[in-house]
Formats: sequence, C-alpha cells, structure tokens
Amino acid sequence: MTASLRCEVAALLDSLGVSPDLYTGGSLAVKSPLTGEVIAEVSEVSAEQAKETIASSLDAFKAWRRVPAPRRGELVRLLGEELRASKEALGRLVTLEVGKVPSEGLGEVQEMIDICDFAVGLSRQLYGLTIQSERPDHRLTEQWHPAGPVGIISAFNFPVAVWSWNAALALVCGDSVIWKPSEKTPLTALATQALFLKAAARFGSDAPVALSTLLVGGREIGELMVKDRRVPVISATGSTRMGRDVGERVARRFGRSILELGGNNASIVTPSADLDLTLRAVAFGAMGTAGQRCTTLRRLFVHSSVYDTLVPKLVNVYKTISVGNPVEGDALVGPLIDVASFKMMQDSLKAAADAGGTVHGGTRVDVNGEASFYVRPAMVEMPSQTGPVLEETFAPILYVMKYDTLDEAIALQNDVVQGLSSSIFATDIREVEQFLSAQGSDCGIANVNMGPSGAEIGGAFGGEKETGGGRESGSDAWKAYMRRQTNAINYGRTLPLAQGVKFDV
Ligand code: NAD
Repeated sequence: MTASLRCEVAALLDSLGVSPDLYTGGSLAVKSPLTGEVIAEVSEVSAEQAKETIASSLDAFKAWRRVPAPRRGELVRLLGEELRASKEALGRLVTLEVGKVPSEGLGEVQEMIDICDFAVGLSRQLYGLTIQSERPDHRLTEQWHPAGPVGIISAFNFPVAVWSWNAALALVCGDSVIWKPSEKTPLTALATQALFLKAAARFGSDAPVALSTLLVGGREIGELMVKDRRVPVISATGSTRMGRDVGERVARRFGRSILELGGNNASIVTPSADLDLTLRAVAFGAMGTAGQRCTTLRRLFVHSSVYDTLVPKLVNVYKTISVGNPVEGDALVGPLIDVASFKMMQDSLKAAADAGGTVHGGTRVDVNGEASFYVRPAMVEMPSQTGPVLEETFAPILYVMKYDTLDEAIALQNDVVQGLSSSIFATDIREVEQFLSAQGSDCGIANVNMGPSGAEIGGAFGGEKETGGGRESGSDAWKAYMRRQTNAINYGRTLPLAQGVKFDV
C-alpha cells in the first residue's frame, strides 16, 4: 500500500510538472494521513533564500504593475485553463496529501477554477469613483493602485484553494505573490506552483520571473515574511493563535493583514424547521472533511419542541456514517490530519464528559494501522454551553444543546470569541429575518436552511471577532489587495480652497 502510494504521488507530481529534486531527499518529510506513511521529502528554503525571494518578488511587482489589468487577467485565465486540464490530478493529490474524500479534493480544485473566472472578469473592473467636488472647475476622484508583494500564509485543510482566493485577485490587482503553504501540505503547493509557471510561460515575457513564488518551510519562514516591510499585505489563514501573532507583528510595522482564522460555527434549529433537510445539512456540516473545515458545524442549538424528534435520528446517523480510507472505498469521513489532532479531539471529549456531556461516537477506527488516525465523528449532548464548547477543536465534534426562545439561541450562538459562520433552519419568515437582522447572528457568514460550511466564491468570505475580520474571494474583497488614492484636480485658473478658507498671498 505504502510503496504504491508513494509511487502514485510521484507519478502525479511528474504529470503536473514538478521536478523530482523538489520532493526527494529534502528535509521536510510529508506524511499522507491516509496511511501515516512518508510519501515525499521536500526541500525547505533557508532564511537567506527567503529574503532573496522577497527581493525578487518586489522586482516582479514593479514590472507587473505596469501591465494593464485586463492583460493581467489573461494570465489568470490561462491559470484557470491549466487548473481545468489538471483538475483530476491535482484533486487526487489533495486527497492523498490531506485525506479529503475524492469529491472534496476535486471540489477544492473547482473552487480554484471558479475564482480564476471571477478574477478574469474583475480585471476589467477594479472601479474607482467620481465624487462631486465642492469647488468650481474641480474634479474629485478615487482610484485603486496595486499594493505590492502580497504574502500568503495558508493552512493545511484547504491546501490550494486558499492560495487561489488570494493569488487570483492579487495578480489581477497588479501585485506579485509570495506563498508560504502549510508545512503539512507542501506537495499540492509545489504542484500548484508548477501549474502557475506553465500558465506564465504561455502568457509570455510580460510575466516577470518571480511573479508568484513559493517558500516551503515552517512557521519561522512565515514569521520572516510577516516581519518584512517589503511585503505590505499579509493574508494569513490558520489558527487564531497564529493570527494573533501575525496581526500584531504586521500592525507594528503598519502593514495590512487579511486574517482568516478559527471558527466555532453554530446552527439553530427552530420549531418551523424542515427536519429532513436539517438532518442532512447537519450531517454534512459537522462531519464533512472529518470536521476539519474552518466553517465546520460545531454547535447545534435545537428548540425543545423538536429536540426529541431530531436528535435521536442524528445519533443514528453518527452511528452509521461510513468512516474509512476514501481512496479504497466510498467512505464519507476520511482521516484526521495527524496524531496531534487525534489527541486534541480526545482531550475535548473528555473535558465535555467531565462537564456533564453525553458522548456519542468519537472512538478511533482502525483502518490502516497505528500510523493513521481515523475516528468515528462525535456528537455530544451538553447541558449548557461550557468548557470545550467555547473553543474550536479542529476535529469532528458536534455539541448539541436545547433552547426555548430564539432570543436565547441567538445570544448563545454569539456568546463565543469566534465569529466565522452560522445558520438557521426555519420556514417562519420572522425567525429567519430576526436571525439575519442587526440583532441576529454576529458572524461574517449567516445562512438559511443550510449548514454553515460550503461557501461559494462569489461572496466575500471571512469572519468577525477572533476569526480575524478579513474578507477574501468575491464581492469587493479585491480592495484589500490594492491601495486607494484620492485625486483632486483643478482645471481652472483660480485656486479656491476647500471649506472657503482664504489664503491670498
Ligand atoms: P496553523 O495556525 O497551525 O498554521 C497555519 C499556517 O500558519 C501554516 O502555514 C503555519 O506554518 C503558519 N504559521 C504558524 N504560526 C505562524 C507565525 N507565528 N507566523 C507566521 N506563520 C505562522 O493552522 P492549521 O492547523 O494549518 O489550520 C487549521 C486552522 O486554520 C483552524 O483553526 C481553522 O479554523 C483555520 N482555518 C481558517 C480558515 C478561514 O478562512 N477562516 C480557513 C482554513 C483554516
């Protein structure tokens, strides 16, 4: 099994155009969570090489900002073509490196293609404003310029889509990009970089050599980039611990950070909910990607009038959901990323039981021996929102609690430090509108009759409070990758001052 997995990874990387010397004999051992075995040894960059890369990225930015935006869009269009052509191979590599089930591996690449399409359209927009001036013979405008090299730090659980959300926008905005992927998932990063280089070669000499660069390494390489003033924008996706550190460092040098951090997402099931739909949505939201999405459903508030109808059915789904190696069968729940993740899950379940919770599931499932970590997802009926319920445990644990009034449920939902995603199951328009109102959900994402996970790229993605406040992907998220400039132009022959100020010399 192991030898063939390693061979398959090498064959995929080869087909995607990654040179073997980048993933053999290096210092960073990459393990597949499917079996726990080492599938490649990737070379890491030194601090010196990272600094040189940042210097070359700055040079690339200076050339790229002069290329007209619609032409920049053409490069992203070609990148989308390369991704389309390699969707199967890259999606499969996501499955082998992260353990996602095949449809989610492919879905991640589809998301990359979608954001490329979005960015191509955007490259003919990036609109400024014309504002009415208070002075005669004056014009007041606002325009957007490229910001500079954009540093992208990404997490293991969306190893390539997060890069594309940032890179596709940054590139059409006229920025260069420097990517520090998760040290757990460098192979999919190498493959994506190879696809970018293919697109750049087809695009021609207008694409500077270091337009998109990759820094494979650990946290220290990320820190080096975060401290560097030559990188004015840092987009960082990962834990709140990481984001607090990154946010503070970037703020100290007055850089801009786009922070996409942890979530503790909730859904509210009201008396008017369609319970069949709710059951399916909760199952996907809480157990999909083995609970390793930032938007995974972690807290479920169920109205006391429907609790005894919904919750026993849910317990049954938790008992029967298929857990296994997703490349060997049709399991819906694959492995956890590593042993640390497994231990955190077990610690949280113990803390929940100590706090009076009734635990269903959560036990280890032996699929591929000791080195891989498969678990039956856990559902915990909690007497109140306390202890581990207030934290994000990056594993499939769903805490279920009862409520009596919608005001109470919304207050509980909002009473955590994270603010990423939320949803309500209701067919009563008053309940829905209250949830979406200013007194409703305090999250960056608030959905109706679906779970909190599975965002589309057209909307701005991100969350409030300790989720970091950043927005990526659709809507006007592009503005974070550009600098705004206000222009006042006097086309007359006098010099009227604003606010009627007189200063005649
Ligand atoms: P992590 O914080 O351990 O690592 C994320 C990245 O940050 C890695 O590349 C790591 O090397 C780097 N890093 C860590 N400390 C750093 C520092 N001090 N300075 C610079 N770089 C540093 O996260 P993870 O375990 O890979 O991913 C899981 C977490 O990511 C969860 O909390 C999840 O909710 C979050 N996440 C959030 C979003 C979102 O959009 N909000 C999306 C995906 C994942």
